[in-house]
Amino acid sequence: MKKIKMERVQNPDSTMSIVLPTAARAALRGQGDTDYTCASCGKILLRRVLDKEIRNMVFKCPLCGAHSRIPASQHARRR
Ligand SMILES: [Zn+2]
Repeated sequence: MKKIKMERVQNPDSTMSIVLPTAARAALRGQGDTDYTCASCGKILLRRVLDKEIRNMVFKCPLCGAHSRIPASQHARRR
């Protein structure tokens, strides 16, 4: 299982869907092989996701309130 730190988003714009995971469970759980963590505090927000499923989505950390997204380089490399 890979674990990747997401990229901090300072000002999410209206083209992005903002998702708020609960503290109790990750926002999404899929069939992928990668966990993604908050850009700020390192909490796992996404477990086993396929990153192509979640483009243009921003995740608000329930612990620290930071907005994170999957780094663009991840999309490019796996395309
Ligand atoms: Zn956080």
